[in-house]
Amino acid sequence: MSHGTSVKRQFGHRARLALSPAEVAKADAQAHAARTMWNLLHAWWRMMPKEKRTLANADAAIRQAREDIDFLAVLPAQAAQAVLKTYFRAWQNCWEGRADTPKFKGRFRTVMSVDIPQGRDLNIIRVHRRWGVVNVPKVGRVRFRWTKDLPVGKHAGTTNRVTGARLIKDALGWHIAFRVQTVEARPDPHQGPYVGIDVGISVPLALSDGETYEHGAWLTGKEQAKLLRLEQRAAQRRQHRKPGERTSRRLQHTYDQIAGLRAKAKRRALDWQHQTTTAIARTYGTVVVEALTLTNMVKSARGTVEEPGKNVAQKSGLNRSISGEAWGRTVTLLTYKTAQFGGTLVKVPAPGTSRRCSACGVTTPGSRESQAVFVCKNPDCGWSGNADHNAARNVLHLYRMGLALIPAAGRAVVRRAKRVKPATAR
Ligand SMILES: [Zn+2]
Repeated sequence: MSHGTSVKRQFGHRARLALSPAEVAKADAQAHAARTMWNLLHAWWRMMPKEKRTLANADAAIRQAREDIDFLAVLPAQAAQAVLKTYFRAWQNCWEGRADTPKFKGRFRTVMSVDIPQGRDLNIIRVHRRWGVVNVPKVGRVRFRWTKDLPVGKHAGTTNRVTGARLIKDALGWHIAFRVQTVEARPDPHQGPYVGIDVGISVPLALSDGETYEHGAWLTGKEQAKLLRLEQRAAQRRQHRKPGERTSRRLQHTYDQIAGLRAKAKRRALDWQHQTTTAIARTYGTVVVEALTLTNMVKSARGTVEEPGKNVAQKSGLNRSISGEAWGRTVTLLTYKTAQFGGTLVKVPAPGTSRRCSACGVTTPGSRESQAVFVCKNPDCGWSGNADHNAARNVLHLYRMGLALIPAAGRAVVRRAKRVKPATAR
């Protein structure tokens, strides 16, 4: 509390809901109604002359629709209001250049979701070590998996509370994402050491101090075999389909099973990321990462021309799709977690970090002997070590050289040095 200030923090916590088939049907109906509401709003908007497109007029139109169309009534009034708000915000985002124009939402391409904008409607209670119950308007009291302590009951206050929630359906079923708002004392500056991180090829995360964060396969051998079988089955069924024929019930079922396994893998990857980034943010004061561009992301999976990636098989398909989005999320998680612990996350432009020697700063051909081993071919140096740690050490070094990306007026400005000094004083 040395600064005497506090920071407001908002985060989401997602929990799986245990719904009966009847409750699932109710939640589904609400989500369909919410989507229909959006589409009606959008149709209304396009029909209205510009000067009549006001929030008040839209609100009146929504109320009328809820009276006229029976199945819209299943959507709680608050959730309908949330659709209205989201729709107007979508236009705002569009006008301010952050998003495309709002569009109609198709039945199959839209994520099913329902907003519960008011925290006080939720009435969350913990009923068991692993279960909580929450009030879902017009569905009832439902159970959810209690995996994180939520600020409810006597633990809630003005500085720590659940401000709302959102129901979301994915391949694993209905979930609830709680919005939690906390006001915390601004943390003291983290006195921990500096560290550079590289997205490894032989290891997922390599740190400049030699630490490594690894994980196993996201799916067990059995699950992987099942996924492969399902994908083959889906491909076969697709082949036997006549042009223009609808997706059969059986094929749809196979698609659902595939989506379920993929969602499971993704969930496990996310858990690992949370654990890892928390551990890093707790330990280090300044965390330096490579500002990755899409091109070097692809390169890291395929390897370079001289050194074709040996992990292509592992990195392709499911693993690649996860690791592809994983780095961006790792950086996002690190950004807020380091801030939470009083530390800083810095990005450096880092071309060639994997091919340059971190001991002498010289890039010599053939130094990267394999995906895992780096041996410096500079006759005066000869340093050898793990290739990913070498890259991580380079990332940290670039920061110490003053190459951090400095955000100015919302745009990243790059200070580029002509070449990296072959530093003996590293
Ligand atoms: Zn060297």
